[in-house]
Amino acid sequence: MEATSNRYDVAILGGGLAGLTLALQLKRQRPETSIFVAEKRPGPAPEAAFKVGESTVEISADYFARVCDMKDHIEQDELFKAGLRFFFPAGDNSDITQRVEWGDSAFAPVPTYQLDRGRFENELARRNVEAGIDLVQGAFVDEVELDGDQHSVTIVQGGPGGDRSTITARWVVDAAGRSFILRNKLGLAKDVEHDINSAWWRVGNGLVDHEEWGAHDETWMARMERPGIRRYSTTHLAGEGYWVWLIPLASNSHSIGIVADPRFHPFERISTFEAALDWLHEFEPQLAKAMEERKDDIQDFLKIEKFSHGCERVFSPQRWAMVGEAGVFIDPLYSPGSDYIAMANTYVGDLIKRDLGGEDITARAEGYNRGFLFLFDLALTHVWTNHYQYFGDAEVFAAKVTYDYVVYWGVNAPRMYYDKLTDLEFTQATLAQVQRSAQLAVRVQQLFRDWHAAGQPPNPTGIHAVTSKFPGMWDRLKELKAGLDDETLLSRYTTNVDILEGMAVMLFHKAAKRLPDGPPDPERKINPHAISLHPERWEADGLFDDNGLTLAEARQQSQGFEVMLLDELAVTA
Ligand SMILES: Cc1cc2nc3c(=O)[nH]c(=O)nc-3n(C[C@H](O)[C@H](O)[C@H](O)COP(=O)(O)OP(=O)(O)OC[C@H]3O[C@@H](n4cnc5c(N)ncnc54)[C@H](O)[C@@H]3O)c2cc1C
Repeated sequence: MEATSNRYDVAILGGGLAGLTLALQLKRQRPETSIFVAEKRPGPAPEAAFKVGESTVEISADYFARVCDMKDHIEQDELFKAGLRFFFPAGDNSDITQRVEWGDSAFAPVPTYQLDRGRFENELARRNVEAGIDLVQGAFVDEVELDGDQHSVTIVQGGPGGDRSTITARWVVDAAGRSFILRNKLGLAKDVEHDINSAWWRVGNGLVDHEEWGAHDETWMARMERPGIRRYSTTHLAGEGYWVWLIPLASNSHSIGIVADPRFHPFERISTFEAALDWLHEFEPQLAKAMEERKDDIQDFLKIEKFSHGCERVFSPQRWAMVGEAGVFIDPLYSPGSDYIAMANTYVGDLIKRDLGGEDITARAEGYNRGFLFLFDLALTHVWTNHYQYFGDAEVFAAKVTYDYVVYWGVNAPRMYYDKLTDLEFTQATLAQVQRSAQLAVRVQQLFRDWHAAGQPPNPTGIHAVTSKFPGMWDRLKELKAGLDDETLLSRYTTNVDILEGMAVMLFHKAAKRLPDGPPDPERKINPHAISLHPERWEADGLFDDNGLTLAEARQQSQGFEVMLLDELAVTA
């Protein structure tokens, strides 16, 4: 369609996932808003062989389904996801049944989805138009002027040298992904240390069912509620310095990607399909065999070097913002990309609504910008950077995934599920607990690195860490949809960080087993905020603290965590 006006409330640059969902969200929350979306691609998107960003987790699943009102489309025309599933290495990885499996036996009680990005964006585009949004496809954003009361956006239609036209808007939101229109214009790029590469492709004409690789083993098959569930997970085949994703799509294709740390796997090893296949033969032979058999079904091959990037500012009181990959991006591990879209869109939508309602948004814009980038920096630096070295160390990586998920379900996700992200009173009331969790993260994430560096014993084999069996974790998930009242929700922040502290002390005792002198006496009270694998610093850091937890108290506080700890699981399995 064409622009119906030359003056709008909001101009969105780029009609991809972030831009189209922001437009729909704005229309739902303030129907009278006039919105212009410029998308350079002229027609509908192809299915399957289009973009990555197919696996949703709880925040983005809820945002797309509920906030953007896409539930009917998603639940009819996309796929339900069977959670995250990890397989850690065993020997040469030629037998999946021997690999430690982390994941649940059934679909989770809180739904998440696998999205075919082409199919999803086409439906989003259709609903944008239906909602009265001026979505102009085939419109390349060539120039943006940020100026006083009205910004201006110049688009070119009909290819290079084509028709130029300019619209004005009170707000400009850059959702043009890695074109980085505003970030480049304003000189806000921020380099990050995290340096990881990826290559991916789609396989058409049927899913790649990795469950078949172990179908000969009845015990392995019986781990699941019924056959056929595993293939709907976002499956991670993990090893030293890498993980490989398998994501099923409703268009009957399977998305497969290698994510690799160049310290262990140089980019050239994965940067062409032939090289990637060769690499799979070396590290993931069962998947390599499946790919050899499906070579004629390969639909595309794409790659990216050093995908992570930061930004000095993403929201401004001068009425511009960046959402999606136009702003920041961390890493696909745990699929947080769409979560960051959901959070940025929620902040930006709130600012726009308030500004158009005549409110002075200066303080809020500054606060949202700080809060969003604080979370991004914290997560990037501590949760993702410099961890790939132990992805082949099953004991450590399984512990990390469990810990990270309790943080995600217990501290990060409730703010979105309960619509509290822009509630300043709630933010203030939870601040102390959020800070306690953030401080703990710094210690625990370093512990994971040091745990592996202290020497890796052989991985256990043939065991299954079942996520729903750890109530400290699973109840956090269920509570996202439990409709808790404000008082209970607030009190949960304290309980949830208590659980994390108990886990931290348990992890410390496990990790310290790899030290020459082993862990301290389990009766000694340990301060979870002082844990480390540096015995020479324990006294000075205040590790031994009467306000801390003995091992028994830690077990009590994070009851059931042992079912996710591989050494204990190996004994009881
Ligand atoms: C390897 C990898 C794997 C990933 N896996 C996941 C995952 O499993 N789950 C997840 O949630 N996230 C994942 N992500 C992140 C996810 O891909 C991104 O968060 C998401 O695609 C970003 O959407 P976007 O709308 O910001 O950008 P895009 O989807 O790129 O949309 C930008 C749009 O802007 C348009 N555009 C660009 N320039 C212009 C211009 N000048 N004028 C007009 N239009 C323009 C483009 O055509 C495009 O349609 C992954 C990322 C990587 C790198």
